[in-house]
Amino acid sequence: MIIAVDGPAASGKGTLARRLATHFDYAYLDTGALYRAVGVHVLSTGSDPADDAAALSAAQQLDMTSLNNAQTRAALRTAEAGIAASLVAAKPQVRACILQAQRDFAHNPPEGKAGAILDGRDIGTIVCPEAAHKLFVTASPQVRAERRFLELRQDDDQLELATVLQDIQDRDARDSQRTIAPMKQAADAHLLDTSDLSIEEALQAALAFIAR
Ligand code: C5P
Repeated sequence: MIIAVDGPAASGKGTLARRLATHFDYAYLDTGALYRAVGVHVLSTGSDPADDAAALSAAQQLDMTSLNNAQTRAALRTAEAGIAASLVAAKPQVRACILQAQRDFAHNPPEGKAGAILDGRDIGTIVCPEAAHKLFVTASPQVRAERRFLELRQDDDQLELATVLQDIQDRDARDSQRTIAPMKQAADAHLLDTSDLSIEEALQAALAFIAR
């Protein structure tokens, strides 16, 4: 059983996917973390995430098992990591490198789990078009910027909402306009707008869709 959860930055897809994974006791993969890890690796070598060779080399060295510790996860959540991720994610060689690992996870979930939930941008369209259930989670740019602002503000008291909104809009544009695997709702995906929903309400709406 594979459930695909796609959508733009800070739409609530990660929280929702995690809650669904707990609910069904399925394995969960945050595919954005893979691209973030590649982007952060490039930055750590002093290279530019827009550089093809540096991005490909970082993707080839990606070790998915290293992403589970709390310190690494915190380093991947920064605004810089998000921007670097969306730059490396636009490169076909980087995506090709990461594609098989995502499919392996979906088809052979770890710990013998009976299913897998993957969240990202292209899970329902490219990575697992055969997924049993597909959700496309969205929210207005303003609401998403406010959510991300509250999260990032904890580590940066100089941060401004307008900067976060601009980053989100730039990332949306880059992710939806790139030629390879652009972010888009799969034809058979259910659209869930979380602008006016609490996490609990979004979970209930997703469960109702899956039950149907
Ligand atoms: O979901 P998250 O914001 O962590 O993703 C970071 C970036 O990784 C996205 O802006 C997008 O460019 C890229 N990404 C992608 N395909 C995925 C998941 C993430 O291109 N399946």
